[in-house]
Amino acid sequence: KPVVAIVGRPNVGKSTIFNRIVGERVAIVEDKPGVTRDRIYGTGEWLNREFHIIDTGGIDIGDEPIVRQMRHQAELAIDEADVIVFIVDGKEGLTGADEEVAQMLYRSQKPVVLAVNKVDHPEMLERTYDFYSLGLGEVFAISGAHGRGLGDMLDEVHSSVPQDIEDDYDADTIKMSVIGRPNVGKSSLVNTLLGEERVIVSNVPGTTRDAVDTPFTRDDQDYVLIDTAGMRKRGKVYETTEKYSVLRALKAIDRSDVVLVVIDGYEGIIEQDKKIAGYAHEAGRAVIIVVNKWDAVEKDDKTMKRFEKEVRESFQFLNYAPILFLSAKTKQRVQHVLPTVKEVSERHNMRVPTNVLNDLIVDAVTMNPTPTDHRGHRLRIKYATQVAVGPPTFVLFVNEPELLHFSYERFIENQIRETFDFEGTPIRIFARKK
Ligand code: GDP
Repeated sequence: KPVVAIVGRPNVGKSTIFNRIVGERVAIVEDKPGVTRDRIYGTGEWLNREFHIIDTGGIDIGDEPIVRQMRHQAELAIDEADVIVFIVDGKEGLTGADEEVAQMLYRSQKPVVLAVNKVDHPEMLERTYDFYSLGLGEVFAISGAHGRGLGDMLDEVHSSVPQDIEDDYDADTIKMSVIGRPNVGKSSLVNTLLGEERVIVSNVPGTTRDAVDTPFTRDDQDYVLIDTAGMRKRGKVYETTEKYSVLRALKAIDRSDVVLVVIDGYEGIIEQDKKIAGYAHEAGRAVIIVVNKWDAVEKDDKTMKRFEKEVRESFQFLNYAPILFLSAKTKQRVQHVLPTVKEVSERHNMRVPTNVLNDLIVDAVTMNPTPTDHRGHRLRIKYATQVAVGPPTFVLFVNEPELLHFSYERFIENQIRETFDFEGTPIRIFARKK
């Protein structure tokens, strides 16, 4: 998904506009009580196209003078976004800070959509004229408070988004990324993996937009490691704004087949670990949970079981993900990572025979009858078929789709998993009327 960043001085109305665009559809990473105040990442949709949106004003960059804060925001937006929405204040008029930011944006050559906010009445339109002097092209008059003008602005955002750049990797190449909060050992793991004896790293890194990918081969299998969180491009900005690396992680997940979710076995699991893992799951990627720094953990014969239980409880939605306990530092068990990546990637793309699937459904229904609703209508599954891979997606043709409740869907999923080995990949089940 393309990334749209909102930039502008404090109080120009960035978060109002952000909230209007995101609506109720808040990305899972921020979808927790208590963080609504600094809800800065979301997903929006316009003309059937989804995009990530970020309110750079919500990024905590410490106590700095406004002009410097804005410079940081603009830098981040320029680095990360495909389109920048620059919001200025029609009531206050043009300021020096606006001019400075406009120059930075202009020089970046990224597409910029300039919106003058707080134009609540048509008589105020003439206040927008000054802003043409910023040299950023068309000026969109909007009112975040009333929601006016946002449609035109979003049309412009939509048409400014570069056409999706297709990843030009072979279909057989496994695209993988390593995600996790700062200091869990992502870079160490990547270095250990790429340093493995049987791993041959191509000389030329593949570049897709701003990310630096590392293609490599092991045992005749091609992989590409998609960079996240500036692991291989760590600038001052990233150090001061760790939070921003979430966005990089989201983008990397979008492009991956397999995601390694790294947690720190020594420090344990924290809330932040769950957020990005949740996104990998939502995005339908194959997932492996890596418990790193296992060398530093004082262990007895029950430690691993205990930690595994904790992982399962904390990441219930990832109950299909294998867990690898390892040490990037001592290289202990790191040799299992790539074979596991390969396995889960194969399962992510596995197709099951329709007849076996339908036999399984018949058996499942015999064992556990389908639910009925208060009117006595019973769910009837007529036929099932797999419609997609990556992740495996199944459609059940039924009499009334509303009758397929979550718990029965879960049951069917478990039956499918008992018959076919889908370890490491989410699977999706939909009901359609037949
Ligand atoms: P990143 O921010 O997730 O990329 O984390 P780094 O790879 O930079 O590692 C953070 C710190 O943890 C560094 O001091 C590493 O030396 C240390 N570290 C990484 N992996 C391990 C490990 O397996 N065991 C131990 N004991 N320390 C590790």
